Amino acid sequence: MAVTEPRRKLQVTYLALALLVGLAVNLWMARSQSVPIDYSDFKALVRSGHVHEVQIGPASIAGNVDLADARAALPEATRQRLPQEGTGGELHFSTLRVEDPALIADLDSAHVRYAAVAGTNWLMQLLSWVAPALIFVAIWTFALGRMGNKQMGDLVGIGKSKARVYVQKNIGVTFADVEGIDEAKAELMEVVEFLKTPERYTRLGGRIPKGVLIVGAPGTGKTLLAKAVAGEANVPFLSISGSEFVEMFVGVGAARVRDLFDQAEKLAPCIIFIDELDALGKARGAGGFGGHEEREQTLNQLLVELDGFDTNKGVIIMAATNRPEILDPALLRPGRFDRKVAIDRPDIRGRERILKLHAGKLALDPDVNLAVIAAKTPGFAGADLANIVNEAALRAARQNQKTVTQADFDAAIDRVITGLEKKNRVMNPKEKETVAYHEAGHALIAEKRTTTDKVSKVSIIPRGIGALGFTQQLPTEDRYLMKRSELLDRLDVLLGGRVAEQLAFGEVSTGAQNDLQRATDLARHMVTQYGMGETLGPAVVDTRPVNPFLGEAGIAVRGECSEETARQIDAEVRRLLKDAEDRVRVTLESARGQLEALAQMLLEHETVERETLLGLLVAGAPLQAQPGRGT
Ligand code: ADP
Ligand code: ZN
Repeated sequence: MAVTEPRRKLQVTYLALALLVGLAVNLWMARSQSVPIDYSDFKALVRSGHVHEVQIGPASIAGNVDLADARAALPEATRQRLPQEGTGGELHFSTLRVEDPALIADLDSAHVRYAAVAGTNWLMQLLSWVAPALIFVAIWTFALGRMGNKQMGDLVGIGKSKARVYVQKNIGVTFADVEGIDEAKAELMEVVEFLKTPERYTRLGGRIPKGVLIVGAPGTGKTLLAKAVAGEANVPFLSISGSEFVEMFVGVGAARVRDLFDQAEKLAPCIIFIDELDALGKARGAGGFGGHEEREQTLNQLLVELDGFDTNKGVIIMAATNRPEILDPALLRPGRFDRKVAIDRPDIRGRERILKLHAGKLALDPDVNLAVIAAKTPGFAGADLANIVNEAALRAARQNQKTVTQADFDAAIDRVITGLEKKNRVMNPKEKETVAYHEAGHALIAEKRTTTDKVSKVSIIPRGIGALGFTQQLPTEDRYLMKRSELLDRLDVLLGGRVAEQLAFGEVSTGAQNDLQRATDLARHMVTQYGMGETLGPAVVDTRPVNPFLGEAGIAVRGECSEETARQIDAEVRRLLKDAEDRVRVTLESARGQLEALAQMLLEHETVERETLLGLLVAGAPLQAQPGRGT
């Protein structure tokens, strides 16, 4: 996605420089070089008596002679090779040695002084291996640069992150280029305001957000949104990918981080964008083999820079990840990435708007219906939709059409879906129905229990990896203490999805597994930590393993907890869950109409906002109303 690639340019410059130096050296050497002459000519010169001194090397003999004398002594053919008439002075000649036993006798009789020299001069020797080495290095750097092999390339310029940070001055992306994720846009508006007029905030002593973490599935527009913030505020955008920090050499990543922040300080106000933060910010001590120390050093350096950075200088650090759960918690502390912006995959209306945005540049056939395309693509992210538009345009072009037709789009969808199915990102209609009832169940129970947080939004579009739909509950107040009845209500909400599936289809799906896990954990806590069980009484039971290494292999060691107590705990937990399930079933059975209505509305609109949900609860029957989102 980078527009400028300073690294490549740098290498080309180096290569050109090396070539130039080589050329200059060559020219200079040629000038100081002697004139090669035949051995017979050399003997003729010696015999003429004008040569006074020669240097005898292992393979050649060199000497000086007056140019005029040389002309007189040499045959016509050799004379041609000598410097032109008029350029008087000395002739520096050299000749290759010939096996000649009479050489010394001849030199002696002509009274020539001679001395042996060891090989050619030192400069020549040096050049003879330096020049090839230089050329080799130049070619090597160039080739590696082309291959894009970052690790080997770094052997040449360790720690120079300047080459890898992509600085963009004129982004050309604004909020108008981002569609279907209005909430995230609204949240980032403040960051734009700050970058535009920092004085307004600092004057009042307000604390400026330092780090903003954008969380969302791949292709939902995280990078796009970060760029749009830079574009709106008209500040430079420094981007680097977390995976590029993690290098082969210990210390390189840390140096990069330092360098990145140095650069940012010079460019302020600006935005630093770290893509794939999880690659570098994985929880310390977790993950596979190798490269640990390096990653930890880099991460530590990032933390140091984040802490030492003064936001009032106008640098905002943004980062993107699709796996926030594996991030080192240290990154999320106050003063670091303390603000999180979640991007969901777009719902049906969002998808239509994204399609419209990208198809705006195409010549569309009048019968193309983008709403229909949006309806066919649940679960698609913005990037997938951009891809569809592009595929459709390519297909139309291949067939020499004047416009892009609905058939082109249909073919494009099929094509893109095949790719996405492999990555498990597409929902089939049956799954969609299951998720609709499941989420409707959660939402209805949350609304019908008195102590639970109110539902602000229900959606069947997956949020994050592994999750199906989601029901968003906003807490009405901050909670520190919770009563038993409140925890029971929470249990009910967790089981709502599962029970709804049972009612609608007569069986449950694997999608409810996570809910069940959370419900079980909650019930266990109630029994063991809060003394809310019925038979165990008011006692905290420590069931955590004391030390897994002290017990015999394979035997779970429990803290102060007997076998008997453990059995009792299990029975209590089961009972809590069973009771909750019964309660939920009663509620949902009596609200069967509402369950159906909400599920149908979810199937149609994918997202249902609070107002629509309330309307439905009052009416108790399907409504014609649109979901609460404006167009
Ligand atoms: P991410 O960083 O989340 O993986 P990108 O920002 O790289 O996703 O998105 C890739 C491309 O997909 C964008 O350049 C844009 O063309 C398109 N795209 C993604 N989301 C949106 C959106 N909400 N609105 C418009 N286009 C989008
Ligand atoms: Zn659920």
